[in-house]
This record gives sequence, C-alpha cells and structure tokens, in this order.
Amino acid sequence: MDNTTANSSPPFHVVPYRPDGGSGQRGLLLTWGITILSGLALGAAVGFISRWLYVAGLFPLAIGGIAGLLGMLSLTTAKVRAPLLAGTIGFVSGCLAIGVVHTFQYQRFLHRLSEQPQLLAQWEADGDGFLQFIDLQAQRGVEIIEHADTMKLGYYQSYIYWLVDLLLAAGFAAYLMWNQARAPFCTVCQDWKETYLLAKLRLARGRAKYAVTTGQLALLRDQVAPPAGNKLLLKVSACSRCGPDCTIVVLLQEVSEDGWGGFAGKRVCQAIYPSQAMDVLNQLTAEKPEPIQG
Ligand SMILES: [Zn+2]
Repeated sequence: MDNTTANSSPPFHVVPYRPDGGSGQRGLLLTWGITILSGLALGAAVGFISRWLYVAGLFPLAIGGIAGLLGMLSLTTAKVRAPLLAGTIGFVSGCLAIGVVHTFQYQRFLHRLSEQPQLLAQWEADGDGFLQFIDLQAQRGVEIIEHADTMKLGYYQSYIYWLVDLLLAAGFAAYLMWNQARAPFCTVCQDWKETYLLAKLRLARGRAKYAVTTGQLALLRDQVAPPAGNKLLLKVSACSRCGPDCTIVVLLQEVSEDGWGGFAGKRVCQAIYPSQAMDVLNQLTAEKPEPIQG
C-alpha cells in the first residue's frame, strides 16, 4: 500500500469493542479455586498478624491487591473473558478473606474467655456466637490508632469501618479481575491478543475519538507525536499467530497524573477493526511498536 492510500481509503467498518464473554468450564473452575483459596490464605495470614498489628485501609487493600493479582493470573491462564463473572469471583474472594480475619479474632476472643471458665460457661449458656462477638466489639467500640493517638469509634461507626474494610478488599480484587477479563482475545486460535503502543497523538480528544469510532483512521495521519500536556495514546491489540485472519482492536487512551506521582490511563474508546486496518495504522508511525502489557 502506498502513502496516498491511507488518505483516500474509505472508512473501515467498525464495531464498538466488547469482550467475547467466553470461558471454558475447566478454566472457570480453576479461576474460582485459585482466587478463593488465595483469599482464604490471605485472610488467615492477616488474621494471624492482626494479633499484633492491623493497619486499617492498607491491610484490606493489600488483601484485595494480592487476591486480585492471583485471580488475574489464573483467569489469564484459564482464558476467562467474562468480566462480570471475573469481578464477582474477585469480590467473593475479598469478602471471604475479611471474614477469615474476623474469625481469627473471634477464636482469640474464645481463647481468652476459656481462661475464665465462668465467663465462657455464661457465653455458651446464652447461645452466643460469632455475630454476638462482632456486636460486642461494636458496643465496646473499635479502637484505631491515628498519629500515635488512639481513637475509639462509636457503635455504628465501628460497623461502617468494617464495611469500608470489606469493600476495599472485595472491590479492589473485583476491579483487577474485571479489568483483566476485558482484554482482547483471538477467537480463531483461542489465545490472548498482544497489545502494542502504536503512537502518541497530538489531536484533541474529541477529534481522535471521532476518527477511531467512525473508522476514519486516515484522520489520524500527520497527528502523531504529542505536544506537551497532551497524552493521547493509540494502542492496538492483534494476534501475531493469525495475522490477517482475525480482527484487530484499536484503543484510544488518555493518560493523566494519578496524584501518586505516577500516570493512569483512562479508556476513551475501543473499537474492533478488520485486519486490513493494520496497514493504515502502521503508516501512521515510522517507529516500530514495542509490546507492552495490557
Ligand atoms: Zn489468533
């Protein structure tokens, strides 16, 4: 294809990107198994450590992060492309982990009670159990340490605090797994597509989005290389094994500072193109694309 072809080519037929939602039964079982087991193991580890140290917010996030990463790894291996299901598995795993942390604390409470047989007999005679233990803790008020000061939470505040912990762990694991399951997949050879950074664009966000969603890639010509401040990335996911036999996925991403000193990419739009679009995309930049994670 010569250089003038891209300018004169008609718009490509594009379809908004959606994950194909597929997953084998064995793969799904593997993902459930690994994610749930890692949630239980993490809950046990944090439950054990919580005897000496428990950092609110940070520990639940660590639980959610590690369970989510292991879940991502298992769903990538198992080729699960059902985001809602993957997110649900992550959420359940995070909830179980926090449940195990509380169970460890309950066991320690029972152990302390056993040192005073009268109190233990009373506890058992009342038919009290795990839920009564949680409520008792709320009545006493959870103590949190802030700037070396101990702060005691009220009854409802304690429940809200536990709920936030639960949502941090479960939500983080769910997000990581949901996002990973949305990755482009080649249904021809049944493997994940590879994602490349193709170019940085100097177009306005709206104009670039219009070009990608309407199949008019020629509008992106001469728009490669960004001015300072504009961080619009054009990425493409393709299958190196099947080449022209399968579709490609074009992603427009806007990168901004995430407030932690790093950068976060936000999806602007993502569309499925016929493989012929690769020629036009390759003409946009002389640079050889480097494989990236994604
Ligand atoms: Zn393929």
